[in-house]
Amino acid sequence: MTTYKEFHRHSIESPEQFWGEQAKLVEWQEPYTRVLDYSRPPFSKWFGGGKTNLCHNAIDRHVAARGKQTALIYISTETGEEKRYTYKQLHQEVCSFAAVLQELGVKRGDRVIIYMPMIAEALFAMYACVRLGAVHSVVFGGFAAASLAARIDDAKPKLMITSDAGMRGGKAIPYKHLVDEALKLAEHAPKKVLIVNRGLDREMALVHGRDLDYAELKKAHLKADVPVVWVESGEPSYILYTSGTTGKPKGVQRDTGGYLVALAASMKHIYGAQPGETMFTTSDIGWVVGHSYIVYAPLIHGMTTILYEGLPIRPDAGIWWKIVQEHKVSTMFSSPTAIRVLKKQDPAYLSKYDLSSLRYLFLAGEPLDEPTARWIQDALQRPVIDHYWQTETGWPLLSAMPGIEDTARKFGSPSFPVYGYNVKLLKDDTAEEVGANEKGVVAVLPPLPPGCLSTVWGDDERFVKTYFSFFPQRQVYTTFDWGIRDQDGYYFILGRTDDVINVAGHRLGTREIEEAVQSHAAIAEVAVVGVADQLKGQVPVAFAVVKDPSKVASAAQQSAMEKEVMDAVDHQLGAIGRPARVHFVTLLPKTRSGKLLRRSIQALVEGRDPGDLTTIEDPAALEQISSAVKRG
Ligand code: AMP
Repeated sequence: MTTYKEFHRHSIESPEQFWGEQAKLVEWQEPYTRVLDYSRPPFSKWFGGGKTNLCHNAIDRHVAARGKQTALIYISTETGEEKRYTYKQLHQEVCSFAAVLQELGVKRGDRVIIYMPMIAEALFAMYACVRLGAVHSVVFGGFAAASLAARIDDAKPKLMITSDAGMRGGKAIPYKHLVDEALKLAEHAPKKVLIVNRGLDREMALVHGRDLDYAELKKAHLKADVPVVWVESGEPSYILYTSGTTGKPKGVQRDTGGYLVALAASMKHIYGAQPGETMFTTSDIGWVVGHSYIVYAPLIHGMTTILYEGLPIRPDAGIWWKIVQEHKVSTMFSSPTAIRVLKKQDPAYLSKYDLSSLRYLFLAGEPLDEPTARWIQDALQRPVIDHYWQTETGWPLLSAMPGIEDTARKFGSPSFPVYGYNVKLLKDDTAEEVGANEKGVVAVLPPLPPGCLSTVWGDDERFVKTYFSFFPQRQVYTTFDWGIRDQDGYYFILGRTDDVINVAGHRLGTREIEEAVQSHAAIAEVAVVGVADQLKGQVPVAFAVVKDPSKVASAAQQSAMEKEVMDAVDHQLGAIGRPARVHFVTLLPKTRSGKLLRRSIQALVEGRDPGDLTTIEDPAALEQISSAVKRG
């Protein structure tokens, strides 16, 4: 047995030896020639020359030994459906899907945008893409048409795959309709749209010659056997868009071989899971957690994965624990917000089911506050593991790693740097390392380990500029999070260094929301800040200046305008970015050079000291913020 410390040290001191060992966990069609090529910093190329395929490693590879084992359990508490697919059946479904994609001309390197609810076909589509060497880009269903159009124009897809509708809280939510709108807005609209029709939206309109029905096309390919396309390790497997400080989302590009090895290793060393067991990740396929720990990693590890469509409290707040009992879940992965939702419900649901199969509950995506962590750990009587990562990294960066060593955990801390990550906390001005209990920017000394983003889609320069240019003194990867390390080596995350906010575990740029608010013709200027919220961690709050103040003179006018602005954000960005409040002011706090003082606004709203205001242009602006907040 090795200790965590030795394991981590080995991964940093001898990365080629370390990752060469991990690479044996997966199958290669052709061996790689070099574990790591770091000849063009900060780009790291892992397992160059090696040929492999994600779909092969997740499905085909297991068919011989695990053909009859369940690979996928699909549960929808929205439609009442429950379906199981063995590895063999899943293989057939994916081959049929891949055959349909081939018929539509999808080839290696082509992009395919998947805008789908949580249904089994969404997974078939993702696997089918990587099977053919095509690059999928899954867009979260909560994004509106304009956001979808921006992603279409960046990825320039050959094809879009969607569904008529999703379901949430018993209500159908149209997807295809949004795709129609997005395609009208996009300059690079694909010529074909493939639709998995669930029969939930009877009013769905079809565009002749463009829209195709998956069930119809599948009929000719029920027994298809589509061979996998072996791709070079560095070829992209997918693009996943994420928010930053600018309004334009970034396409995080993932490679194939590095991602595969990173995921396989993580199942063993971080999650401590065994092949044949069941993993239940409650995220959405539109997020990175869904990609890594619903779709790919559990199957790469020979486990059963659960795909759940529904809310955590419907039909009642015991539903997730019922699933754990029924399917003997060993590894569960969720988010702090979901646990805070459950905390408001009757605690009896937590002791109603037999949870003896459950080894660990992992929580990620946003800060896990101590009371929530304590509450769920006491209620489940199971270890709760906070881990910290980002869309960019693809797998955890800070975590306890019970698969290596069961180190003691501290509430509020995601423990230690994960193997492969040379994490440093650096002073934001000098880039020097901080001491124990001192605040610094969480940075990673390159090369980044396998699995992390290989670049920004179509924009190497943006990759270097965004992630490796925070410090003029040294080229390191920055997470844009503040952190501290205590005297025992435990890390604590203190919040973002930039204007990105985290709403219920979802990352949003305040700039993106501001642009959406400004899409309303009456708005002249706006500042959006993230404000602490008991349930969602943070919520966006907007302070807007209207062009014609007489339009918000009365309370009734203000509330009508607030509703209009919220609707504009729903329409432009999606309900996920809707501000919790829109306050109207006539002036925004800015520096004399015109920079918005978002941090001071945020501090005022949260009842804290607004900090250094020597550069403010007009102090009256802050008074307006204070009075707007007081008025409520
Ligand atoms: P995303 O890329 O959307 O997953 O968001 C990543 C960001 O979420 C990080 O940069 C952090 O700000 C935050 N985050 C993720 N996991 C944690 C965690 N365990 N504790 C604190 N913050 C977290």
